[in-house]
Amino acid sequence: MRWGRVKTASHPRESRAYSTRLSSFGKFFLPGPTEVRPEILQAMLRPVIGHRGPEMEALMQRVAPRLQALFRTRRPVYVSTSSATGLMEAAVRNCVRRRVLSLVCGAFSERFYKIAQACGREADRLDVEWGDANEPDSLAEALAGADYDAVTVVHSETSTGVLNPLAEIAATLREVSPETLLLVDCVSSLGATPVDVDAWGLDFALTGSQKGMALPPGLAFGVASQRAFDRSRETPGRGLYFDFEAFESAVAKLQTSNTPAASLLFALDAQLERIEAEGLEARWARHRAMAERTWRWVDELRENHGLELRLLAREGRRSPSVTCVATPAQVSGVELVRRVAEQGYVIAPGYGRLKESTFRIGHMGDHTLEELGALLENLTSIILAMGQKR
Ligand SMILES: *Cc1c(COP(=O)(O)O)cnc(C)c1O
Repeated sequence: MRWGRVKTASHPRESRAYSTRLSSFGKFFLPGPTEVRPEILQAMLRPVIGHRGPEMEALMQRVAPRLQALFRTRRPVYVSTSSATGLMEAAVRNCVRRRVLSLVCGAFSERFYKIAQACGREADRLDVEWGDANEPDSLAEALAGADYDAVTVVHSETSTGVLNPLAEIAATLREVSPETLLLVDCVSSLGATPVDVDAWGLDFALTGSQKGMALPPGLAFGVASQRAFDRSRETPGRGLYFDFEAFESAVAKLQTSNTPAASLLFALDAQLERIEAEGLEARWARHRAMAERTWRWVDELRENHGLELRLLAREGRRSPSVTCVATPAQVSGVELVRRVAEQGYVIAPGYGRLKESTFRIGHMGDHTLEELGALLENLTSIILAMGQKR
C-alpha cells in the first residue's frame, strides 16, 4: 500500500520529504506521536468487531495481564478511548473533591493545573523554571500546613525533556501527607523507563498510546490504587465517561465501558506482544542508550565545534525518551526542523515559549540506536551550516 508523500505548504515539492509509505520506519522522531512499526499498523487492517462479543473478550483477556505488567501493578488497567488528556481530567474528576496541588515544570504539568481549574477545583501550583525538575524537598515545604486531596505530577515532562524523581516524590508525599493522593502523568515515561505503580504507591498513573508505547494516537490507559478508587466513589460530579467505577466494572467483564476504538485495540494487542517479547528491562535499556547517545552528541557538537548547544535538563534529571536542546541565536528551532525535513526526517521545535530557542528529538517507542545515529549525523551537518553563517 502506498499513501504518497507528506506535502506541506512551505515545501510542497520536497523530493526527499518524510515518506509515509506503510513499509518505512526510522525517520519520524517527534516526541509524540512517535513512529509506529509497519506490522502494528497492519494489525489494524481487519474488520471491526462488536464490543460485547466473545472476540473482544478474548482480546481484552490477552491485553489485561500485559498492561498490568507494563504498569507493574496488580490493579486493573483501564482502557480509554480518548487521548491522554482525557485521563488527566479523569484523575482530577475522580480524585479531587476540593483542592489540589500541581507540580509544574513545563507545558504538560501546567495542563494538569489548568484541568483542575476547569473542573472547578481549587488549584495551587508549585512552579520551577522550565528545564528544572520538581524536587521532593520543595514539595514537602509546600505541603506543610496545607490540606490537599491530591498532588499532580508529570513524570517525563515532554516539553522540556525533564524526568522528575517520581519515586522520591511519591515517598515524600506518603511521609508528609499520607492521605493525599498522587496523580501521575506517565505519558512519555511508561514503557521507556521504570514506572513501578504498586511499589512506588502511585494512586493514579496514566499514559496515552502514542508515546512510549509506540501505538497510533487515540487510546489512553490508567490505573487507580484501591484507595483512589474508593475515594472516587465518594467524589461528587465525577461525570460519566471517565468514572473510575465504569472503567473498573468494564475491566471485570473483559469489556470497555463504551464503544472502544476497536482498530486501535488490535494494534494494542499486537504491540503488547512485541513489548513482552523484547522485555521491559531491555526496552528501558534501549531508551537509556538512545538518550545517552543524544546527550553525548550535544556535548561533542559543543566541544568540537564551539557551538553553544546545551541540554535544557541537567544531569540526573533527563528524560530517556525526549531530549530538548537549547540552541544559540543563529540556530532557530523552527528553521532547523524545516531543514531536517528536507532530508526526510521529522523532529520537533521547542514547545510553546521555547519554540525558537530549542528543538526536541523524540527517541522513544520503537526507535533504535542505529536509526537515531543516522538522524544525528544529518543534524550535525545542518546545524554546523546554520551555526557558521552569522
Ligand atoms: C503528549 C503528552 C500529553 C498529552 O497527551 P494527549 O494524548 O495529546 O492528550 C500529556 N502529558 C505528556 C507528558 C505528554 O507528553
